[in-house]
Amino acid sequence: MTAGGPARRGAFWALAAACPGLAAFAATLAVTDLPTALLAGAAAAGVATVFALVGQAERVRALAAESARAADEERGLRQEREAVLQTERVLGAALEGIADGVWITDASGAVVRHNAALRRLLEPGQEILGKRPLFLLRRAELHEAVMRACSEGVPAVVEVVMEGPRPRVLEVQVAPLGGSLPGSAAVFRDVTELKRLERVRQDFVANVSHELRTPIAAILGYAETLRAGALADAVHAPQMVEIIHRQSERLSELVSDLLELSRLDARERPLSVTPVGLGEVVLRATEAMQPRAAAKHVSMTHHIPDGLAARADAKALEQVLVNLLDNAVKYTPEGGTVELSARRDDERVELSVRDTGLGIEARHLPRLFERFYRVDRGRSRDMGGTGLGLSIVRHLVSAMGGDVRVQSQLGVGSTFTVVLAAA
Ligand code: ADP
Repeated sequence: MTAGGPARRGAFWALAAACPGLAAFAATLAVTDLPTALLAGAAAAGVATVFALVGQAERVRALAAESARAADEERGLRQEREAVLQTERVLGAALEGIADGVWITDASGAVVRHNAALRRLLEPGQEILGKRPLFLLRRAELHEAVMRACSEGVPAVVEVVMEGPRPRVLEVQVAPLGGSLPGSAAVFRDVTELKRLERVRQDFVANVSHELRTPIAAILGYAETLRAGALADAVHAPQMVEIIHRQSERLSELVSDLLELSRLDARERPLSVTPVGLGEVVLRATEAMQPRAAAKHVSMTHHIPDGLAARADAKALEQVLVNLLDNAVKYTPEGGTVELSARRDDERVELSVRDTGLGIEARHLPRLFERFYRVDRGRSRDMGGTGLGLSIVRHLVSAMGGDVRVQSQLGVGSTFTVVLAAA
């Protein structure tokens, strides 16, 4: 045994562990002094064996490096997958958070994804996934828009009118997915209320123009006739001047009602709702209307329990009562009665204006508070009505947090009741 033998033995065994062939070689020789055997083996096997051993060790190192690289790659893929899942979760949540209905289709136009809002817009319980637009909404225009977006990448906006128990108007924006993604996306917006408001606004403008045109035409016509010589006509001239005066008054009432409505719409005059004693407000309103009632021989009475108070804006409430009393007197023939009463009902106060007038057919009642709605257009005009009085009433009452309703019977009379919070 040479000096340094144990160190060499250690190196040998390490090599033997890494290379089972070498251990087998040592075992075959039944060599007990292994370092010597190694030297002997090396000498015997020659340089080729050493190269083979070194090559094997290299392969082991390469395998270890390869497996480390694979582990790195796997970790990277796992992280990527987690990031994709996270993005998917965020997108999913965003899709569900959108108030509009959304669907995404594949290149064939079949729905591959949609949100809950879309389900609410379509028929309840309808199967959506995998279905194409024509099947889901039965609108060729929408189907074609989706197919064009998928095949030609052309965006479009389509209006879909849905009939049935829940009629709706949907505005659908269709767009290709873009990038290298095949398919399309569509956003469904329920524009029913928007369309209704647009119609109301158009009707309102048409109504205002019409209402203004009538008195203006009368004023212009009679003024021109007078200017053309009728002024000298002692019999007809005063009648024409009278008509011009009446129509000017009508015009002025119309304009002031319109201004009042626009101020209410714009909330220019914020109401101050406080406890208001009803006795005083009722007195002011009835005093204002008394001359008109007396001129028409309509008797007007009021019964208000002492100390009764409601949460209201005093000026607004007075205007509400004046409008209701004005109508009651206007639509009650001579000899009739108009009665204003109030009572407390638990937490509420009810103010009623009852008349023994013409009454209103039931079919008109649901629309009575709409702007310019009249039961009898000609009669309302003859009586100096603008068709806006009740819409102002409804506006003011709801701004005070109350409610107004009507009961009426044709030929018997009407009762308008304002309900406010008691104070
Ligand atoms: P108008 O200026 O025409 O009176 P309103 O908005 O005040 O407009 O009323 C709308 C319509 O309701 C009136 O044209 C009239 O046909 C009907 N109406 C309102 N109040 C009464 C009432 N007390 N009795 C009968 N009809 C009424």
